[in-house]
Amino acid sequence: MLVILSIGLFSNCTNKKEKMKQELTDFIKKHDSVYIPLFKASNLASWNAAISGKDEDFKRSEELQMQLVKLFADKEALKKLEEIKVSGLITDSILNRELDVLYRSYIMAKADTAKLNAMVRMETMIEQKYGNFRAEVNGKKLSDNDVEEILKKSKNVNEQKEVWIAQKKIGQTVAADIIKLVKLRNEIAKDLGFRNYHQMNLTLGEQDPRDILKLFDQLDTLTRDAFAGVKGEIDNYFVKYYGLKSKDELMPWNYQNRFFQEAPKIYETDLDQYFKDKNLETLTKNYYSGIGLPMDDIIAKSDLYEKPGKNQHAFCTDIDNHGDIRVLANIKSNSYWMNTMLHEFGHGVYDKYIDTTLPFILHDPAHTFTTEAIAIMFGRFASSPQWLKDMAGIPEEEKMKIADNCFKKLRIEELVFSRWAQVMYRFEKSMYDNPDQDLNNLWWDLVEKYQLLKRPEGRNEPDWATKIHIALYPCYYHNYLLGSLLASQLYYYMVANIIKSDDYRFQSFAGNKEIGKYLKEKVFMPGSRYFWDDMIEKATGEKLTPKYYAKQFVK
Ligand SMILES: [Zn+2]
Repeated sequence: MLVILSIGLFSNCTNKKEKMKQELTDFIKKHDSVYIPLFKASNLASWNAAISGKDEDFKRSEELQMQLVKLFADKEALKKLEEIKVSGLITDSILNRELDVLYRSYIMAKADTAKLNAMVRMETMIEQKYGNFRAEVNGKKLSDNDVEEILKKSKNVNEQKEVWIAQKKIGQTVAADIIKLVKLRNEIAKDLGFRNYHQMNLTLGEQDPRDILKLFDQLDTLTRDAFAGVKGEIDNYFVKYYGLKSKDELMPWNYQNRFFQEAPKIYETDLDQYFKDKNLETLTKNYYSGIGLPMDDIIAKSDLYEKPGKNQHAFCTDIDNHGDIRVLANIKSNSYWMNTMLHEFGHGVYDKYIDTTLPFILHDPAHTFTTEAIAIMFGRFASSPQWLKDMAGIPEEEKMKIADNCFKKLRIEELVFSRWAQVMYRFEKSMYDNPDQDLNNLWWDLVEKYQLLKRPEGRNEPDWATKIHIALYPCYYHNYLLGSLLASQLYYYMVANIIKSDDYRFQSFAGNKEIGKYLKEKVFMPGSRYFWDDMIEKATGEKLTPKYYAKQFVK
């Protein structure tokens, strides 16, 4: 009797499991049938818009994006997923991962539609305000590019100040709107059971806010002294450059950039000269095929040169998540574009070599910052003396002559960006915690602490609101820094374990097919079948750590 009963229970349970599995499989099939064609159409439309710059193409792209938003706002679908998730009956690891990814994609369906629409409307309105703003100096209107150009080139500190203050006026125009938006985002997050929007955003991106804080704290400790050192060098350089009496006279507008997010060029390096007569497209193609990651198919579909109306930046897109990968670029024969080409095609090869047998929703990089890491790692080679020798053909003598300045240049760029990312991450975290605090003051406290810049005396303006990311690309900035950390971690792993060398300076990976094989097998192929930190651990033997970034750029 007992035996029969337990068999009955067992088969009952198995039946339930099979039923849930079937329900999830059916759900995915139905989801894919709508999502996949829409996904392709939307990517294609935004690609076409970026190439043509035409209003009607942008309109089409926007329409398709709205349809995607609508698809994931399906409350019934979320209910079904929740039911399957709560049952705990999905034991297959791939299906479980799909369930997890889908659930996080649909979770916004829980939010109040009116609030979501209000959020989109506010974002669009703020975006337009940024778009329409021009700094005004002596009756002349200046675009962001004009402002950057003047800050970079002018040696007149009064002119720099005037331009810097004029472009900060956008803050007053948008600050109140942004605070309203932040409060609305927090409301939505609370409706969904999160403490605030920052916590929600990170959690839904599979990042535990406590882990990210820990990483940023570690990184702060690791970079503090090294940054103070380079900041001292920068200040000494500028005192001479502007003909000032002392460092105390240096103000935030003297650092050649609106936010001191990029390093000023204080070392003598003219890498552009090595690319002047080079074909960057061919160099990129040869490099990637040399390391066993051929991508001629991506090149063939790409749009790499300037055209009227075309988007002036660069990006990589996987139109159908199954091989139709394209890069948009505007190649000029210089070092910046060499870096950009290596960067974008780094994204490209990652996408290309994801296991094609993975289900569509897992056919993605493990995280946006993991593909950023690959792109950053390859992009850095554009200023590597060894890479310049192996790929751009500079002589050994020249390589040794420029080596020191090349390393210093990369180091200062990483350190300056790293401290700026601290400001952004900590400001956002604190702002979502309490949007009613004195944000103007918070901003300058952080800028002083992490970037070692001097607050202009008595300044009480919403300077934080002048950084468009805070309003429109919320809680994303920390990913750039995580990408840099992982780029160093992977680089060190490959030098030690594939090249089997302890020389971390003079490496280019050029012509080494084992590099491509490793990246394919350990990083690209898995797509997003594992949680990102598990993928990193499987690939390098360690979870994400700032250790190698510190080795590469701090010591
Ligand atoms: Zn990128």
